[in-house]
Amino acid sequence: PVKTRFAPSPTGRLHAGNLRTALFNWLLARRHAGAFMLRIEDSDSQRNDPTAIDAIRADLQWLGLVWDEGPGAGAPSDWQQSARASVYAEGAERLIAAEAAYPCFCSATRLAALRDRQRRAGQPPRYDGHCAGLDPVQSAKRRAAGEPAVLRLRMPESGMIAFHDLVRGARSVHAGELGDPVILRADGSAAFLFANALDDALMGITHVLRGEDHLSNTPRQQVLLRHLGLPVPAYGHLALLVDTEGAPLSKRRGDASIAGLREAGYRPEALLNYLARLGNPVPDDSLREAAELASDFDPATLSRSPARFDHQQLDHWQAMAMAAAPAESLRPALEPGRVPVDREADFLALVQPNLRFAAELNDWAGRFFDTADVLSDDAMVALREADPAFFETVATALESADTGDWKQLRPALEAATGRRGGAMMKPLRLALTGLGRGPALGAIIDLMPADIRRARLQRAAA
Ligand code: GLU
Repeated sequence: PVKTRFAPSPTGRLHAGNLRTALFNWLLARRHAGAFMLRIEDSDSQRNDPTAIDAIRADLQWLGLVWDEGPGAGAPSDWQQSARASVYAEGAERLIAAEAAYPCFCSATRLAALRDRQRRAGQPPRYDGHCAGLDPVQSAKRRAAGEPAVLRLRMPESGMIAFHDLVRGARSVHAGELGDPVILRADGSAAFLFANALDDALMGITHVLRGEDHLSNTPRQQVLLRHLGLPVPAYGHLALLVDTEGAPLSKRRGDASIAGLREAGYRPEALLNYLARLGNPVPDDSLREAAELASDFDPATLSRSPARFDHQQLDHWQAMAMAAAPAESLRPALEPGRVPVDREADFLALVQPNLRFAAELNDWAGRFFDTADVLSDDAMVALREADPAFFETVATALESADTGDWKQLRPALEAATGRRGGAMMKPLRLALTGLGRGPALGAIIDLMPADIRRARLQRAAA
């Protein structure tokens, strides 16, 4: 059975790129009627933000990406790396016993000098194996005596390491180029590479979709799991999400944070539909349910080049989501008392197609039902070009009209003012709402209380 996971480090707020990774893993699990797990990778206590776990949960819940295993289900030792130190210690001992890992006593100074030398020689940074040949018995004594040491994984010295990437296809690297990575830090805590691979294997993860920044970890993790005789999941590396300048989105800079988008008023289905299509060829452009998006999700069809996070495209989905939203779901955004209770349903129906965010309901409510002036300076300038008598004529005509039906009202107003079409409707719309766009003018006149209409027309004529 397929089992995927999203494994964020709780170091900051999730951004759109993180969330897309979570979504793709969720879609893959759903596509195969498998399980989806949320695992918290907090083995590096130095970098953790104590509020981040709750924030991650809130973000995923908001998007409807429910997890079958993780926070809220089972003991923390099942899903939180900081509660699994004994698991990693045990794994490390097994690797040492098999001589697949060795303690490294190299000082920070020596390693810095090594990196320096390599940089000057134009070589990539790589551990030179200085401690790889130490006698294991001697090393064990030094460790026991308290000499600080990290633990390194022994990589093969030659040959190729090949794997099939779910997104990028066949990959292979020269084993000798990878260097022996650290798997336990000097304080005994597990390094990312180690905890992450061990957890995937022990938790039965079958497929891993993650950012391409992890591509070089995969052969190392594969070697590690083979040494331990554990199953290796299938890995797929996603091209990164970049901003409009082409820089990868960053958690620490707070780029396109999910919480920020939520607070700005974006609807979860808008974000979900947008993210699901970033680098993923979804066959149609209609707003779809997450479960529907899962039915044809296939990592092999994902794009291998970076996708751009573009607010304009997100706004396109937001507009679709707003238009499709049940009016009931907008009502909570409307502050109480802004709209007379008996006009609320009409108001919502009329204004909904014009909303970008639900909170704009309050602005529209003011335009319809509040005596406060709605005319900006720009609107006043535009109105000044119209003839004050025009607004007086409209006011009188509206007051004496015996119909609210726009089909009859419109010709009556045209006759009274001597203006037709836009020449009549544009200044009228502006005078009544202060805006050049919005719901149909007839519906505006119908919904707006007579005393507010009168006040607005007087103001425009002044
Ligand atoms: N904790 C890692 C990250 O946030 C997870 C990488 C992975 O999915 O394997 O980048």
